[in-house]
Amino acid sequence: MKNQLFDLSGKVAIVTGGNGGIGLGMARGLADAGAAIAVVGRNEAKSSAAVEDLRQRGVKAIAVTTDVTDKAAVATMIARVVKELGRIDILVNNAGMSIRKAPHELELEEWSKVIDTNLTSAFVCSKAAYPALKASGNGKVINIGSMMSIFGASFAAAYAASKGGIVQYTRACATAWASDNIQVNAILPGWIDTDLTKGARQQVSGLHERVLARTPAARWGTTGDFAGIAVFLASPASDFVTGTAIPVDGGYSIMA
Ligand code: NDP
Repeated sequence: MKNQLFDLSGKVAIVTGGNGGIGLGMARGLADAGAAIAVVGRNEAKSSAAVEDLRQRGVKAIAVTTDVTDKAAVATMIARVVKELGRIDILVNNAGMSIRKAPHELELEEWSKVIDTNLTSAFVCSKAAYPALKASGNGKVINIGSMMSIFGASFAAAYAASKGGIVQYTRACATAWASDNIQVNAILPGWIDTDLTKGARQQVSGLHERVLARTPAARWGTTGDFAGIAVFLASPASDFVTGTAIPVDGGYSIMA
């Protein structure tokens, strides 16, 4: 018998940026717990491969090609998920990117691109999904922050601003939607081995060694490390947990 605390059978989850990296790690966890998944991203080939992977886990999965910075495209995506999968219970706002430059070298267009992709997209997707999440009767929103929600870095002005903002946006939505029985929480990943950080390792000298030295677990995180926290925050196990920001970082954020 399945443990009902963590059972997502009959639930529908949207995972933005679910076609790779941390998003796919979370999507796999949600699928293994029984949820149908809508994978949202721009790269069709990557999304098709992710959908195939998820279907092999025995659940329904669809790809909805969408740029999450485009409000009209997001509205179309939400309507398509409701039409094809019937409902929305879980929204994971995971799509993200970074432009690594000193604050004084960052152009306004670059600043706006990072803020739009990492922070404004969460607002746009959450607002568009809200009616369906409310109708679900037990909606769950999971926003993805970062260690840059807590710390600063010389190369991460826009990124840190977006990830600090996502924590405060999480708290605001958690208070607003508690009466709808929608829980809204954030995950703060440590340093995780994905396409995003491959670029960082190349651009920021000494980063790889610094991460290993500072992380008590003495390793980079894997995308599989996000399956469990995603299931917890999407399932009845977390029904009295809202407005939190949970580090999944191998202890990075508690290291003196
Ligand atoms: P990846 O680069 O592997 O994944 C980023 C995902 O976001 C891709 O699936 C990409 O899909 C999607 N995406 C980016 N821009 C858009 C857009 N405009 N519209 C739709 N989808 C978009 O990175 P990670 O898996 O590492 O990152 C996932 C999240 O985790 C991000 O929010 C990131 O900031 C955060 N994070 C990552 C950390 C790490 O160490 N890796 C640490 C802390 C936080 P596509 O290209 O198809 O659009």
